[in-house]
Amino acid sequence: MTTPTYLFVPPAIPSLPVLGTGARFPVNRIFCVGRNYHAHAVEMGRPVDKATMKPFYFTKSPSTLVESGATVPYPAGTANYHYEMELVVAIGAQGFRLTEAEAQRMICGYAAGLDMTRRDLQLVARDQGRPWDLGKDFEKSAVCSPILPIGNLGVLTGGAITLQVNGETKQSADLAQLIWNIPELLADLSQYYHLEPGDLIYTGTPEGVGPVKPGDRISGHIDRVGDVSLTIGQAE
Ligand code: MN
Repeated sequence: MTTPTYLFVPPAIPSLPVLGTGARFPVNRIFCVGRNYHAHAVEMGRPVDKATMKPFYFTKSPSTLVESGATVPYPAGTANYHYEMELVVAIGAQGFRLTEAEAQRMICGYAAGLDMTRRDLQLVARDQGRPWDLGKDFEKSAVCSPILPIGNLGVLTGGAITLQVNGETKQSADLAQLIWNIPELLADLSQYYHLEPGDLIYTGTPEGVGPVKPGDRISGHIDRVGDVSLTIGQAE
């Protein structure tokens, strides 16, 4: 196979450290689940009835990935920049049209993530029936801790998920409150996409989302999974 000649140096493959190894997890796609905790759906004015509704998804470009511990500039074009604390599922196998029983073999690890959001732009788009990209898929918006290999954890069904801003607790919930649990999400998402090693799934945020400003420090924790942090810098 001949090596292609590129017009310019291609960007590096976005990746995350994998705990306990010297290897990195190369990120293929970033899927995000919307409205997957009841109290958050309600605070957004869009309650969920699982009996009649299905999960929905949006995506972030892999190039939006930021490692935990970074400082990111307050983003352009917003006056309402929000945190969303989320469990991230790291996919390590190929899977298409999975059953819930097949889901566990897809998971190679977990991480703690922040789905950073330009809330004002997202809500304008939502209310006008437009795509969410300006509100969700922007530079440095997908923050993620190192990947914890699944080991003996299996499919997570509970555990505290919390977020603090400058030491003050803003989000405090439990993974057991996910509306669609991990097997349900993987089975559903794989009806629409061929899941691939390197895919990340942000599983949705609990209630208590809110704004941050330059100088703020966000720290999030998920029991048995890990911690994620982010510092907000000045606007560019
Ligand atoms: Mn989210």
